[in-house]
Amino acid sequence: MKNMALLQKCVLFCGLRQIFSEIAIDGQAYGKGEYWMIKFNVPPCVGTEAEYIGQTIASHKICGDGPFTKQCDDWMENRFSAQKVLLTTSGTTALDMAFLLCDLQLGDEVILPSFTFSSTATAAVLAGAKLVFVDIRPDTMNIDETKIEAAITDRTRVITVMHYAGVACEMDAIMEIARRHHLLVVEDAAQGVMSAYKGRALGTIGDLGCYSFHETKNYSMGEGGALVINDPAYNERAEILREKGTNRAKFFRGQVDKYTWVDFGDSYLPSELNAAYLWAQLERADEINEDRLNTWRHYYEALQPLAAAGKVDLPVVPDGCEHNAHMFYIKCRDLEERTAFISYLKKNDIMAVFHYVPLHSAPAGLKFGRFHGEDVYTTKESERLVRLPMYYGLSEEERSAVIESVLSFWR
Ligand SMILES: *Cc1c(COP(=O)(O)O)cnc(C)c1O
Repeated sequence: MKNMALLQKCVLFCGLRQIFSEIAIDGQAYGKGEYWMIKFNVPPCVGTEAEYIGQTIASHKICGDGPFTKQCDDWMENRFSAQKVLLTTSGTTALDMAFLLCDLQLGDEVILPSFTFSSTATAAVLAGAKLVFVDIRPDTMNIDETKIEAAITDRTRVITVMHYAGVACEMDAIMEIARRHHLLVVEDAAQGVMSAYKGRALGTIGDLGCYSFHETKNYSMGEGGALVINDPAYNERAEILREKGTNRAKFFRGQVDKYTWVDFGDSYLPSELNAAYLWAQLERADEINEDRLNTWRHYYEALQPLAAAGKVDLPVVPDGCEHNAHMFYIKCRDLEERTAFISYLKKNDIMAVFHYVPLHSAPAGLKFGRFHGEDVYTTKESERLVRLPMYYGLSEEERSAVIESVLSFWR
């Protein structure tokens, strides 16, 4: 009987290993099959994921807040000098938690860029906020810090920034405005894990920060994210919010002798199975980061002549910003040229994608928000932008094929 259980475990574990090694091989050998296509994204997989997931299965503890979750939280706290990090079920739910912790009243206003993912906005709406969109800077595609102050009213409570492509917003200026007007700052650092602004990790500069570990991000757990709490005053409320409104976290630390329902909450704990996958990636975070940066630098150098000739614009990384190569984008002349360029790449078996229809012109944006000031760059710049294939493990061969196709389009 005992042997039987052991055998089952082995079969399960080996099965997982088999599946994972096939996935890893597929990720690397892609392009050698009959149908040759350079993918836009391949989720990261370093090879130890199956082992850690197997350990979790064998431990009979697969719910949230087990050893892998704790290891991930601790690793981020140490690496990013963060006061507290809590894994969540997604980047979106990390944002939900952040805005709920801001304790907004119905009709309070949140300032944010329109050039962002829907999660940034919908999390604020869930907490009762009215959205006030502000224009972006054309160089980084981030919120224009010089246009924030004019959008502040007596209902404004929060400034939300999103660090596009893992390149930081101008945080010194933004924090100064926020402090002067007694506003909170939420950082959507979904794309900014391992990036920094003047030596400080993105997500740790505002009052609350949010990371994403979706499969399209630099580090993944399938679906998942993390809330970064920079003011200890939020710690206890965050734990309650995350644990269905109970003080269970306190109970597990032995600070109360029974746990009970103390406030409204929800369930934001990811399963240990997902945390185990993430832990494999975090252990190799520097290697993944370096691999992506290497691809990014090669793209940048090879496409520099196109930029010099005035054909395209390349990404801008301001002084003081250390980025994580979350993406590599170029900007075409206009929408028409971009459409032609994307279909040209597709004909060459290369997947490239554009990003974000500005939220203020989307149906929900019209319903929940308004644009303050003039849309000088948001729409115009978003229509020019194309993202090239970028993932951990993108081969030199694939990279060269992408570069060759981009250059030949403008030839
Ligand atoms: C990916 C992303 C999110 C959402 O993260 P999920 O983990 O997919 O919920 C939020 N904001 C931005 C800017 C993102 O890129």
